[in-house]
This record gives sequence, C-alpha cells and structure tokens, in this order.
Amino acid sequence: MFTRSCSGIFLTCALTGLCAPAVAQDAELPSLQMEGVEQITIEVDLDGAVERLSRAVQFPTISNQDRNDFDTKAFDDYHAFLAEAYPKVHASLKREVLGDPRPYSLLYTWEGKNPDLPPALFYAHQDVVPVPEDSLDQWDQEPFSGTVADGYIWGRGVLDDKNQIHGILEAAEMKLEEGWQPERTLYFVFGQDEEVGGPEGARYVADVLEQRGIERFAFVMDESAPLIPGVLPGIPDNTALIGIAQKGYISLELAMHGVGGHSSQPPEETNIGILAKAITKLEAAQFPYRIHEAVRHQYRYMGPELEESRQPMFAAVAFGKEGEMTDLEKEFIAEMATNQVTRAMLHTTIAVTMFNAGIKDNVLPPAATAVVNFRPMPGDTPDVIIDHVRKAIDDDRITITDISASTPATAVADPDGPGYKALEKTIRQIWGNDLIVAPFFVIGGSDSKHFQARAFAPDVYTITGIQLDSMKEFAGFHGVNERIKVDEYGKTIGFFYQIMTNLDDL
Ligand SMILES: [Zn+2]
Repeated sequence: MFTRSCSGIFLTCALTGLCAPAVAQDAELPSLQMEGVEQITIEVDLDGAVERLSRAVQFPTISNQDRNDFDTKAFDDYHAFLAEAYPKVHASLKREVLGDPRPYSLLYTWEGKNPDLPPALFYAHQDVVPVPEDSLDQWDQEPFSGTVADGYIWGRGVLDDKNQIHGILEAAEMKLEEGWQPERTLYFVFGQDEEVGGPEGARYVADVLEQRGIERFAFVMDESAPLIPGVLPGIPDNTALIGIAQKGYISLELAMHGVGGHSSQPPEETNIGILAKAITKLEAAQFPYRIHEAVRHQYRYMGPELEESRQPMFAAVAFGKEGEMTDLEKEFIAEMATNQVTRAMLHTTIAVTMFNAGIKDNVLPPAATAVVNFRPMPGDTPDVIIDHVRKAIDDDRITITDISASTPATAVADPDGPGYKALEKTIRQIWGNDLIVAPFFVIGGSDSKHFQARAFAPDVYTITGIQLDSMKEFAGFHGVNERIKVDEYGKTIGFFYQIMTNLDDL
C-alpha cells in the first residue's frame, strides 16, 4: 500500500522505496511500470503438452445450472488421466480429493524446504460451461474433440480454464524432473464448480485449509482476464490486468403470496401487479456510486499510460480520499457511468434475473416471485442489502429471502507488495516489456473469492496467464470456437515454471 508519510508533501512509493513528490491534481502521474526486466525463453515439451491438453478437453466436465445433472464419470476419468499424464507430480505431491457434498475438487500439496515460510497457492477450475445445442453448428471444430488445427488447440474449456490447470502441472512436472523443490509450500487447487459459484468445491477447500491452521498465504493466483490488446475501452496496447479485488455475490427472492382466483373478477391489485411495482421501485433505488480502493490503485498504475490531457482526472481518482469527492472525481464517475461495464465498478449492482407467476390465461396466480442478483461493494453486507430492498419497495406484503451461497466483497490485494511484483516480473520475463501491467477491480468473481473474502488470503491476484490476439479471440470464453494458440500455450507453461521460481524470493 502506498502511504502518505514523508512529511505530508511526499508520498512513499513502495515500488522504488524512494520518496517522490506528491501528485497534485494538476500534475502528471509517475509511471509505475516495472523497468529493467529481461525477457527469457523457457524450453518446454510443447508437442507432449499440447497432446495432454487436447486430451483434457475431451472430458466433458460440465457444470450445469441443474446441479442434479452432474457427470461424475467425466470427473473421475479426468482425474485418472491427470495421474497418468503427470506421473512425477502424482508420485511427489500429496493429492486429496475434496468437496461437499460431492468430492471432485483436487488439492495438491508440494512441501517446501522451509516450513516457516508462508505458503503460496495456485487456483484453477476443472469445470466448463455447457455448449448450447443450438450453437453447435457455429463451431468450426467439435467442442469436446480437443482438435489441434491451424495452430490452435480447440474446445470447450481450453481457455476457461484447463490451460491454467495444465500449465501449472506441466511446469511442476518439469521442475520435478530437474530435482527442484520449492522454498515455500505450494498448493494447487483445482475446483469442480466454479461456473456455478463454487459452493461445493472452492468454498469447502478454503474451509479445510483454514481449519488446518494456515495463518496467511503469501500469494494466491487464480484466473481472470488473459493478456489482450484493447481489453479496456480506449487502450489499444497489449495489457495484462491483475485483479486485486472481487465484488461479492447475493441473490434475493422477492415473493408475493396472496389469494388467486378467477380472472373474470380481479381484485384492485393482483399479485403480479404488486410484485412488478416493487421491482420497478427497486430498480429506481440504485446504490450510490463511489470509488473503490481497487479502482484508485487501477488508475494509479494505468493512468500514467493513458492520454496526457486526462492525467489530472486520473490523478484525482488515484489519490482521492474515501468520504470526499472532488469535481474531477465526479467527472470520472459521470464518464464511467455511461458504460455498463465500468458502471458496475462504481456500486453494488441490482439485476432482476427471474420472474415467475401464472400458469393459465384466465387464472389469477396465488403467488408471484422474482429473483434479484446483487454484486456487492465492500460494506454492503446481506443485511445492508436486504434493508435497502425493504426500504425501496416499502411493501410489507412482499417477503424477502436470501437464496444464494452469498459471499461478501473480498479484501484488496496489495498492488505494491512482493506478490504483485513477482507476478509483474514474471509476466515481463515471459511476454516482454511491450505491454501495460496494471491492477484492476474485478466486477464478476471467480472461485478464489472464497479465499480472498477470508483473513488468511488477502493477497489474491487474478489473471489468466495466456496471451490472446484480440478481443475477438476472447469471445470463445463461454462462447463458440473457444481456442488458444499452440505457441502461446508454450508460454503459459513457461510462465508457471518461472513464477514458481520467482515465488522462492518473495
Ligand atoms: Zn473460468
């Protein structure tokens, strides 16, 4: 964290350890991009690795919304394949199969040489989203074939998120081959149900590790945005965004139970009408906008790399104070609020996702229900949200129930700390220096939120360690024609190999 020490007019920049002049609102922001990192090449067995990832894609480890529709065989077969494909990992690391009520998550423990050092953890998920039947004809290759063609590995899950599981395991297998052992204990956790919020896998594994008395992880890494040029609007450069905080998750059911009846003699207000009015009132009662600490860090790092004329605004955001709002910060908020992606970074969002009532055209239904999904900012606990909803709808006839495995907004990982620096250094070693590296506030969330919302893992960094060509390639993520470049997969393995080395020196 940066501090405003150094006699008030200077701020200590943890990156350099030197005191730099404090940034006034009309001054330029100093660049915080790491300098002097040399690019390296890690030799990998690319043909073998590609073959193994191709095989991995062929196990349909799908997470369906209907949790009864769960293919245990796909997971069992995938686990057996992993054991066969990575013999050294399975001979040397402790492997546990965890999850509640269904145990299909994998926890690997690689004992470090120095048990006094706080451990590090790599997270990735085994499950994939389904492929809708009506999208099949849009795929150039069968989604579960694992085809390798035109320089790509194709298939559902190859990008989200099996390339990360296999990048980690390939790197570990290489290290073991060399007789290497980490200084600090490394955990690999491969969850089973990230795509449905991780209630059975990640949450349970976090419980287990917490109960084992781990006080603090030095570093946790999980998926998020890959490296892509133009990932943020207005920034054409190649960018590696490192998520440092994730929003929370809660879904409320709003229900109106009254009397039904015949549609020939309706009451003045129907159940559907009452609930619809409540929803309208709720949508009108948006949570206020504020600038999250993670957004301030994001612009402290990214701002200097953006247009010069906008530096004063980014400086105001970067160094603004909680509870105060300058004109430039208001300007920033007004701009962010015009785009639904950036708007979501400013407040707890309200999304009405389900609305159910009625079965026949001439019958008044006795009940109407709606589900509203919220992605909370820090401080907006379930109690705060329920209270907000109750006040907004102002109608005691409607009941409000929390129906989700809700998680609070997470802690904010330190963007100036050694974990972030190790990550940025590794990114530059593998992909070079012609890119912007910046922390960012994740408006969605992945399984590591189950760790980062707890005291033992504040420093969770989220990035998917693979380079994509363009935003068009990113469309395969949950979409059609999911694929990654063969050569880029080689760099992913090199990335995990190198970060394991770099974590020794945290
Ligand atoms: Zn994912």
